[in-house]
Amino acid sequence: MTGLKRAGHWIGGGEAPGGSGRRSEIFDPATGEVAGHVDLASAEEVDAAVAAAAAAFPAWRDASLTKRTQVLFRFRELMHAHRGEVAELISSEHGKVRSDALGEVARGLEVVEFACGIPHLLKGGFSENVSTGVDSFSIRQPLGVVAGITPFNFPAMVPMWMYPVAIACGNAFVLKPSERDPSASLLMARLWKEAGLPDGVFNVVQGDKVAVDRLLEHPDVRAVSFVGSTPIARYVYETGTRHGKRVQALGGAKNHMLVLPDADLDLVADAAVNAGFGSAGERCMAISVVLAVDPVGDELVGKIVERVGALTVGPGDDPESQMGPLVTGVHRDKVASYLDTAVTEGAKLVVDGRDTPVKGGATAAETPGFWLGPTVIDHVRPGSAVHRDEIFGPVLSIVRVSSYDEGLEIINEVEYGNGTAVFTNDGGAARRFQNEVEVGMVGVNVPIPVPMAFYSFGGWKSSLFGDTHVHGTEGVHFYTRGKVVTSRWPDPSHGGVNLGFPTNK
Ligand code: NAD
Repeated sequence: MTGLKRAGHWIGGGEAPGGSGRRSEIFDPATGEVAGHVDLASAEEVDAAVAAAAAAFPAWRDASLTKRTQVLFRFRELMHAHRGEVAELISSEHGKVRSDALGEVARGLEVVEFACGIPHLLKGGFSENVSTGVDSFSIRQPLGVVAGITPFNFPAMVPMWMYPVAIACGNAFVLKPSERDPSASLLMARLWKEAGLPDGVFNVVQGDKVAVDRLLEHPDVRAVSFVGSTPIARYVYETGTRHGKRVQALGGAKNHMLVLPDADLDLVADAAVNAGFGSAGERCMAISVVLAVDPVGDELVGKIVERVGALTVGPGDDPESQMGPLVTGVHRDKVASYLDTAVTEGAKLVVDGRDTPVKGGATAAETPGFWLGPTVIDHVRPGSAVHRDEIFGPVLSIVRVSSYDEGLEIINEVEYGNGTAVFTNDGGAARRFQNEVEVGMVGVNVPIPVPMAFYSFGGWKSSLFGDTHVHGTEGVHFYTRGKVVTSRWPDPSHGGVNLGFPTNK
C-alpha cells in the first residue's frame, strides 16, 4: 500500500478518513496503474456530513453579506494561486492535459467571481404604499443544507458551478464528487477553510450509490444539484423530488454541429477538431456529430482528417500532449466498441483511433493505459447506434445531409438537447436556427457555447430534469426561497375591524 494515495472525506472543517470498510480504486489513466484508493461513505458518514452542515447553517445564514463576500473573495484568490496544483490533481486522475485542466479551473473561478456579487444578486424589490400606509418588499432566503453530486469529467469546474452560489446565498453545502477523481474536492475544501469559511459550511463525502441515495432521502437536505449521465440524472430527479427536495439534474448529451454550404470550411474543421477531441471528447459540450450539408462533405472530411493526423496524443503532464487518455479502462473499451459497431452499421471508419501513436511510440491499442486516439467516422446513418448513443469519447461522426431542414430535423429528433452549433456566414440562416433548434445552449460559429457564469448553464429534453439551470440568476433562485413581506406601522387613525379580504385602499 505504501506510496498509494488515499482520498477520504472532509466533514466539519477537517479530514475524516472513511470508516465504512468500502473503497474504490483511483487510476493513473496514462499508465493504467492503481494510484490510490477513495473511501466510499456509508449512510452514517453521510449523516455526519449533513449534521455538520446543519449545525453550521444558522450562523452562516446570519453572517452579513459583507462577511460572506469577503470569504468568497479570499477563496477566489486562493483557488487562483493554487490553480496549478488543482490542475495537476485533475490531470493525474482524469487524464486530461494540463492546459485543459487549467481551463476548467478558470471557468469554475468565473462562477466564484459571479458569486462575489451576491449582495447585488440578493437585492429584493420594494414597493411603497401598496395600500395607504402599507409597504411591500421581497426577500430571498437560503434553504439550509444543500447537496451537489458531480461527474468525473470536470472534477473542479462542475462542483464550482454549484457551491460558490449556494454558499454565497447562505446555505451549507455537502459535495459528493465522482469516485473516479476525488482529490480536487479535498484541496478545494482546504482552500475554503484557509479562506475563512466557518467549519461545516462546506463538506465532502466520497462515495457511490450508497452516499447518493442517503443524500436523496435525508430529511435535512433541502435541495440537490446533480450533473452526470441521463439515466442517473433521471433517477436522482425522481428520487429526490419524491422525498420533497428541490432538484436540478443535468444529464448526458449528443451535440451536433450543422455546417451550411456557405461556411468557412477551415474555420469549421478547426472547430470540429477542437470541440470533438478536446479532453478526449469527455465533455458534455463536446461536438460528437457534424452534419455536413451537401456539397461540403468530402472537402470538410478531408480537412478534418488532415488536422487529426497532426494531433499529439500523450500523457496529460507532457506539455506537448494535446489529448490524453480516457478516464478508465472500462470506459475506453466501451468507447472503442463503437468503432466496430460503426462498421457493422455500414459507416466508414476514416481515422481509427486504435492505431494512433501515443507520444510518437506504440499505437493506442498497444500502449499500457486507457488510450484511444481521435477517431473519425463518415457516412454515419441518422438513428444508428453510433449516431444516437452518447459515446463520450474521442469519436467524431459525420452525417451527410441534403439541406438545412434535414439537418435541423435530425438535431430536434435526438433524445438530448444540451448544446449545438451552426456554422454559416448567413445571418438569416443562423437566426432561424437559433429560433427553431430544440437545444438549451446554441453556438453561432462557436462550437462549445458554454454560457458565462452570469448566464445559466443547462440543456433541454433528456439533458436536464427539473426547471432551473445552474449558476447565473437561475442558480441564485435555485438556492433560495422567495418571501414577500407586507408591512404597516401603527398609525393613530387605524381602520377598525373589517372581515373583508384585504384590498387596496
Ligand atoms: P455518472 O452518471 O456515472 O456519475 C455521476 C455521479 O453520479 C457520480 O458522482 C456517481 O458517483 C454517481 N452515480 C453513478 N451511478 C450511480 C447510481 N447508480 N446511483 C446513484 N448515483 C450514481 O456520470 P459520469 O460518468 O461521472 O460523467 C459523465 C456523464 O456526465 C456524461 O453522460 C456527461 O454528458 C454528463 N455530464 C453532463 C453535463 C451537463 O452539464 N449536462 C456536464 C458534465 C457531464
